[in-house]
Amino acid sequence: MAKSILQSDRTYCFICGRNGNGDPLEEHHCFSGNPSRKLSEQDGLKVYICGNRCHRNGPKSVHRCQKTANALHKLAQMAWEAKYGTRKQFMERYGKNYL
Ligand SMILES: [Zn+2]
Ligand SMILES: [Zn+2]
Repeated sequence: MAKSILQSDRTYCFICGRNGNGDPLEEHHCFSGNPSRKLSEQDGLKVYICGNRCHRNGPKSVHRCQKTANALHKLAQMAWEAKYGTRKQFMERYGKNYL
């Protein structure tokens, strides 16, 4: 399992900064679907976020709110390009340019 390249410290929520008390942090892969989720795992494109509020159920949670999802897509692509390769290579791997 690869380490996140977006967040080395797993003790706070990547989105809101809370520490998981009362709403335990969960791992979120920045890109979903097949094969993007698997690639996210390989490349470390994942973050730790409040399971209820920021991940699954809140009105602005990443699985409910396209705006939040898009913000993470952009950050993930920037981190990928900084670490692994060019924009063209990112697009070949993930099928899309988010920036
Ligand atoms: Zn998720
Ligand atoms: Zn949060």
